[in-house]
Amino acid sequence: MNSELNLGRILGIQFRLHYSWFIIFILVTVFLAWQVFPPNLPNQPQPVYWAMGTITSLLFFASVLAHELAHSIVGRAHGIPIKSITLFIFGGAAHMTREADKASDELKMAVAGPISSLVIGGLFAAVWLFLRGSADQLALMALWLAQINVVLAVFNLLPGFPLDGGRVLRSLVWHFSGSYKRATKMATQAGRGVGYLIILGGIAIVLLYGDWLAGFWLALIGFFLESTARASYRQSQLQELLKGFTASQVMVSDCRLVPGQTTVSQLVQEYATSSDKCLLVTDQGRAGGVLALHNIKSISQKDRDKTRLRDIARPLNRLPVAHPDQDVLAIVQQMNETDIDLMPVVSGGRVIGLITLDNLIAFVNSQDEFRI
Ligand SMILES: [Zn+2]
Repeated sequence: MNSELNLGRILGIQFRLHYSWFIIFILVTVFLAWQVFPPNLPNQPQPVYWAMGTITSLLFFASVLAHELAHSIVGRAHGIPIKSITLFIFGGAAHMTREADKASDELKMAVAGPISSLVIGGLFAAVWLFLRGSADQLALMALWLAQINVVLAVFNLLPGFPLDGGRVLRSLVWHFSGSYKRATKMATQAGRGVGYLIILGGIAIVLLYGDWLAGFWLALIGFFLESTARASYRQSQLQELLKGFTASQVMVSDCRLVPGQTTVSQLVQEYATSSDKCLLVTDQGRAGGVLALHNIKSISQKDRDKTRLRDIARPLNRLPVAHPDQDVLAIVQQMNETDIDLMPVVSGGRVIGLITLDNLIAFVNSQDEFRI
């Protein structure tokens, strides 16, 4: 999670800035200071345009944040915990720890964002009306913010997942058909369609108006939406396929015991075979930590001689553990909430297996119905 800055909490929700956000912040500021304000308010000194651009850009992203907060507050009021809100290059995202249980909850949560954008747009329009003729710089900034918030609301209501409109579509199909699975499939397929249309729109802007920046930008957003919709569909299929399975059915078992002082090089040469996907690291004969194969792969060649397993193993007493007959979906949710990628399965005080995200995906891949 090094690609994000933690900026503290707003109403109890962690607020993060992804580094890619700075790119869009600079682009919006430059666009405002060069293209938007000078033609509409000529004869101002350059620093005035830059100040207007910077403040307007910050207020725009504050509006995006308010949109995401609206989703989060309504979600939380319906029992859906929100882990964090991130601002990134394509806007904002509220990270829920799980999906809604009821179609009506999803609908309310989805429309909260666009409604808040419309309300904010209305407030800026009122400021514009009030300041028009007396404080032209502020009035112009308010006018642009009013317009962009309406654009934000309308764009987000396009009926394709992961946009809010896609969630509205899903909640309606879910409500009327009674099938969450069918609704998710329809909303994510619509999301891919919307993504492709936006890419085409970007190409059209380049061909018709020669505006490379706007066209390229729109196409990038289209690509992002299409791939997110595809990933969401895969995620929902994953959940569908894991439903009803227990930890002992999907875990990697037969963990090999390896002493903690073993180095990674020794492990690779002497102990492990490529079929060992679960390693228990012992301390004076007792299992004290756990390692998955991908933990070892991430150690660089030159560090392997001096890295001992006890240094990289996850201590068992600090990891949440699963019971053999625990529901896999509940385990996935817990891994998601606590940001861990592996969980030991414990029976009678002994580790009998390991669940990792990698092995869950491998398990699902081994079921024939898994199709994108
Ligand atoms: Zn939204």
